Amino acid sequence: DGVLLHGLSRPFRILLLVNPESGKGQARTLYKNHIQRMLNEAGVIHTLIPTERQDHARELVKEADLSLWDAIVIMSGDGLLYEVINGLLERSDCEEAIQTPLGILPSGSGNALAASIHYYSGAPQMCSEDLLVSCGFLLCKGLVSRMDLVSIHLSSGPCLFSFLSMAWGFVADVDIESEKYRHLGAARFTIGTLVRLASLRVYKGKLAYLPATRDSSDLQLPPLDQPVPEDWVVVPEEDFVLMLAMYQSHLAEDLLAAPDAQLDDGVIHLFYVKAGISRSALLRLFLAMEKGAHLDTNCQHLVHAKVRALRLEPKSPEGIITVDGEVVEYGPVQAVVQRGRSRMISG
Ligand code: ADP
Ligand code: MG
Repeated sequence: DGVLLHGLSRPFRILLLVNPESGKGQARTLYKNHIQRMLNEAGVIHTLIPTERQDHARELVKEADLSLWDAIVIMSGDGLLYEVINGLLERSDCEEAIQTPLGILPSGSGNALAASIHYYSGAPQMCSEDLLVSCGFLLCKGLVSRMDLVSIHLSSGPCLFSFLSMAWGFVADVDIESEKYRHLGAARFTIGTLVRLASLRVYKGKLAYLPATRDSSDLQLPPLDQPVPEDWVVVPEEDFVLMLAMYQSHLAEDLLAAPDAQLDDGVIHLFYVKAGISRSALLRLFLAMEKGAHLDTNCQHLVHAKVRALRLEPKSPEGIITVDGEVVEYGPVQAVVQRGRSRMISG
């Protein structure tokens, strides 16, 4: 759906990073059965490197001679692309490196970006191997668009780059707790949601955001220990069930969290659910989300805002914050959108 930049001319050369441990641990078989021949027939010359451990992909792209490749493609879940994007942005030539077209072939248990790109292409909703094959065709077409990134600032450490989501409360807890059901593939989130609903809790914190009402390129954020600027909205509630910031449409293969999100619209879709929601109402929200209908349920506890930046200051002593499904340091955090900072092969 984003603005098409160019099409890769055939034959094109890709670096294909395959995580054999992703999803149900069948990425190699999925590649052999569904992807290898398709790429060869489409004139996509690919060098396959299986990732051997966490951070392997990150180190590879940090050191790689990028002139060898027309694109870097990952076959895994969202986690491996997170490594690639952050690895590219850790390079001394990061401004150029992040212009490398990226691609994604879903073989993980969390394939939210692949599902989003597939959705923007106008294709009907699909899951697992059907989604993989369909994303394989999109890759072969080689159409490159810009994609937003969001920079995430924590109270310590360098800033991180995110392409999908930031979550706190219910969604973050489900994401991390459900890791133990990874062998179930995408069903892990359904099971995790049901388990978490049984022990639903309230998360205390302060939330503020800059509404996306005007174009604001090159936003400078104040340091985390300074108050937010005058034109920010400070959310009056401080008791939440969840906070979810989405920059693409899908939270998971079958969860359409932000139906009108686009690849490069410079918008963060901020959702939060206020404390006091019943278990059954929360369950109804997640069931409606399968069709992207949660905003039509008129749930009084759910708030949706389109924003450019946000700040979260959790007050509960312990908790989980995730960025693209990965745990980050728990504490104050701010996020700001960088419109069209990266490039993605999409439909
Ligand atoms: P999934 O959706 O199945 O979790 P991800 O792409 O999110 O798939 O991958 C999960 C994690 O696996 C990533 O953080 C990545 O660093 C790590 N990883 C990559 N290669 C390997 C490997 N060979 N063994 C174990 N973990 C790996
Ligand atoms: Mg977006």
